[in-house]
Amino acid sequence: MSAKLLKFVDTAQRRPPKRDASERRDDFEEIFDEFQSEFAAEQASRCSQCGIPFCQVHCPLHNNIPDWLMLTAEDRLEEAYEVASATNNFPEICGRICPQDRLCEGNCVIEKGFDSVTIGSVEKYITETAFANGWVKPPSPRREREQSVGIIGAGPAGMAAAEMLRRRGYQVALYDRHDRLGGLMVYGIPNFKLEKHVVARRVDLLAEGGVSLHPNTDVGRDVSFADLRERHDAVLIATGVYTARDIKAPGVGLDGIVPALDYLIASNRKGLGDAVPAFDSGALNAAGKDVVVIGGGDTAMDCVRTAVRQGANAVTCLYRRDRGNMPGSQREVAYAMEEGVTFEFLALPEAFQGDGHVDAVRAVKMRLGEPDSSGRLTPQPVPGSEYRLDAQLVLKALGFDPDDIPAQFDVPDLVTTRWGTVKSQLATGATNLDGVFAAGDIVRGASLVVWAVRDGRDAAEGIHQYLQAKVGADAASLRAAG
Ligand code: FAD
Ligand code: SF4
Ligand code: SF4
Repeated sequence: MSAKLLKFVDTAQRRPPKRDASERRDDFEEIFDEFQSEFAAEQASRCSQCGIPFCQVHCPLHNNIPDWLMLTAEDRLEEAYEVASATNNFPEICGRICPQDRLCEGNCVIEKGFDSVTIGSVEKYITETAFANGWVKPPSPRREREQSVGIIGAGPAGMAAAEMLRRRGYQVALYDRHDRLGGLMVYGIPNFKLEKHVVARRVDLLAEGGVSLHPNTDVGRDVSFADLRERHDAVLIATGVYTARDIKAPGVGLDGIVPALDYLIASNRKGLGDAVPAFDSGALNAAGKDVVVIGGGDTAMDCVRTAVRQGANAVTCLYRRDRGNMPGSQREVAYAMEEGVTFEFLALPEAFQGDGHVDAVRAVKMRLGEPDSSGRLTPQPVPGSEYRLDAQLVLKALGFDPDDIPAQFDVPDLVTTRWGTVKSQLATGATNLDGVFAAGDIVRGASLVVWAVRDGRDAAEGIHQYLQAKVGADAASLRAAG
């Protein structure tokens, strides 16, 4: 065992410097600065190199965390990058935005008495060092293959699959309806969690490696799914989930009550320098307003923190359960609190008030009653506890359901689950249709970037196996015919 490890007893946990809330409230830059190299090595050296590393078990990509921590502690960063990138296409992105408290770090064995190793920050540090030194290369196949794969959706699932297939030499075309590629990493997740140049850099690498990029191409509208199946030997559906859940309450149709993603897309586009009339007119801009965000997940946290940065007068998050039951990352909740967001736990909107445009939310207090079928306690209204909150902008962040892909793609035979997600085989992504695969949120429902990367990698492997088998079958039938 290296003398540079097992330092958790006398070395305290230290994260990269976090900018003060009073400073970060005023801009959209990431809230953590970079690790300085000596601190990254010091923090990596806290790892106890467990025989059964629970961090790795609970990372959806099963990253070889102990090895890259050891290499970082020994200042062997190029090797650390090789190990980190062997299982993850975007370690610098996961290092920034994985909910590590629920995944790798939350399961680090030293977490109990000594605070976990800061795995995500070290992963980001290794990969940023690799970019700075030119160690990150575009996918470069050892040999070209004639077969082609069409990928619909350039989020993390589609991008990871594109990279893996291109590395194997396939001709890969990546289609997306948006003008920029990256999916929710560009248009959902705000810049203060993930700066957009970090995603663009990965898109550029795919292009340099020979992936053919087709932005502004809405499959089902600009090109049919049937055409794509004709054009390619295999097709991957990686379209994410975008049907926003709505609230049923009187007044919900008033102006000023908007879906969270419309609001976040407008904010991200503005940050990217686009003309955004709905932002400039004030409709999707929180400046000077009392803002109420409804929901308790990551999207709600992104909305409240965006509203703070836009200069809202007051920002309140209404969530019907208590803090311990919030579905999103507790770290994000803590950051939002630091930045001045008010949380109204155990509160539900009953009605929206206003004359054409919303000016208030009527809410009611809740208490947690009996468990439902999933075991979660059911929130129930407390009679007589109604109250009013001023609100000129209300953001609905209640989660997303899948779009109706069989209808959108005019492919009624594609089998979906009872939740509307595309049904596919675990570990290969194969659907019931020949040569059609699926990956990411459209398979598992709204999830995480790291799971999308995992699914994209699995589907790429499934597609490779499928295409290899096809080549073998074609050769056999040629031999039989000749
Ligand atoms: P997406 O990223 O949604 O990409 C799908 C792509 O398909 C999109 O670019 C879309 O334009 C394209 N597409 C859809 N239909 C078509 C069509 N018909 N034709 C062409 N293109 C099409 N996860 C984390 O791990 N950490 C976080 O901090 C985090 N924060 C989040 C914040 C918000 C506001 C949201 C909404 C999600 C967040 N997530 C986070 C979840 C994460 O972004 C998703 O789980 C992940 O992006 C899913 O990847 P995907 O590739 O399956 O889909
Ligand atoms: Fe942790 Fe995510 Fe990195 Fe896995 S990919 S080690 S869960 S930060
Ligand atoms: Fe190191 Fe913690 Fe992983 Fe153990 S669980 S190998 S201490 S990072």
